[in-house]
Amino acid sequence: MTAAVSDCLFCIEGHMPAGRDESMGELFETCPACRIPCGFCDGIAVYPTNYDTPTELVIDLLTLRLAPVFCPGCYGVIAVISLGSSL
Ligand SMILES: [Zn+2]
Ligand SMILES: [Zn+2]
Repeated sequence: MTAAVSDCLFCIEGHMPAGRDESMGELFETCPACRIPCGFCDGIAVYPTNYDTPTELVIDLLTLRLAPVFCPGCYGVIAVISLGSSL
């Protein structure tokens, strides 16, 4: 696909809504139609819209005893792991 970003019907500047997560809120993902998928995660990573920085997400999830796993290629979230229920 060589369509210009502004011509893509599926996304806004390469970002596509990807539903909602119980712990992370609204998510978006990289548009597979106009962006090359990340070589590390194959484009499965999602990005929470409510957070400006990964640090904010880490802190918020920590209060839920969860930890995000970031893709080393695109810095999206590829998994959320449970830290267990006891401190
Ligand atoms: Zn697109
Ligand atoms: Zn990635």
